[in-house]
Amino acid sequence: MRMILLGPPGAGKGSQAQNLSVALCVPHVSTGDIFRANIKEGTALGIRVKGILTAGELVPDDLAVRIVADRLSKADCANGFILDGFPRTIPQAEQLDAMLARDGKAIDVVLNLVCPDEVIISRISGRRLCCCGRTYHLTGNPPKVAGICDFDGKTLYVREDDKEETVRTRLETYHRQTEPLIAYYAQKDALCDVDGEGAIADITVSILGTLEKMGL
Ligand code: AMP
Repeated sequence: MRMILLGPPGAGKGSQAQNLSVALCVPHVSTGDIFRANIKEGTALGIRVKGILTAGELVPDDLAVRIVADRLSKADCANGFILDGFPRTIPQAEQLDAMLARDGKAIDVVLNLVCPDEVIISRISGRRLCCCGRTYHLTGNPPKVAGICDFDGKTLYVREDDKEETVRTRLETYHRQTEPLIAYYAQKDALCDVDGEGAIADITVSILGTLEKMGL
């Protein structure tokens, strides 16, 4: 299963990728997570991309492609993967296709999580994270104790690029640079629209049903 999750920031790509990764037994590959881990560790890559992420802009295509090529070459991706946050531009998509074609492979399905901008802004502004990787929402998925992770008791935090001004830039960047991918994959007959509004678990069930109907 080689799958791409497409959609604006905050559409639920990360949550769905986590659930689908467990259900389908393929790794979740998130470029955003890779960049954030490098920023946290203070690596050369992290230092290079920190300002870009904070501004809500895109890392240069060649760099994003190199990171993904390296990740997909690992043994755990041999039987498939779920890409979350990549590709984000047409050149990235073209290079991904070329990379897979060299091994006689192709993307099986692109799930496009559809979610209006107003819902995105409300979702992202309520998003709270734990360093263990769990995600909460102030109203949609609150922790049992405000501000504290249910699992490890650590204090939740707001992602640096979830601040409102940055969210608006990220949405603009999405519409300008990433949205054209919808037509790109529709043309290849790989696109499948998914309603991104609703409970995370319900959306996962609906996606799994759709994949089954598609014979994937
Ligand atoms: P995400 O966690 O997917 O929302 O990504 C967070 C940030 O990482 C984005 O706003 C970009 O700055 C950067 N980023 C992630 N994936 C890519 C990509 N494929 N191309 C360029 N920049 C990316």
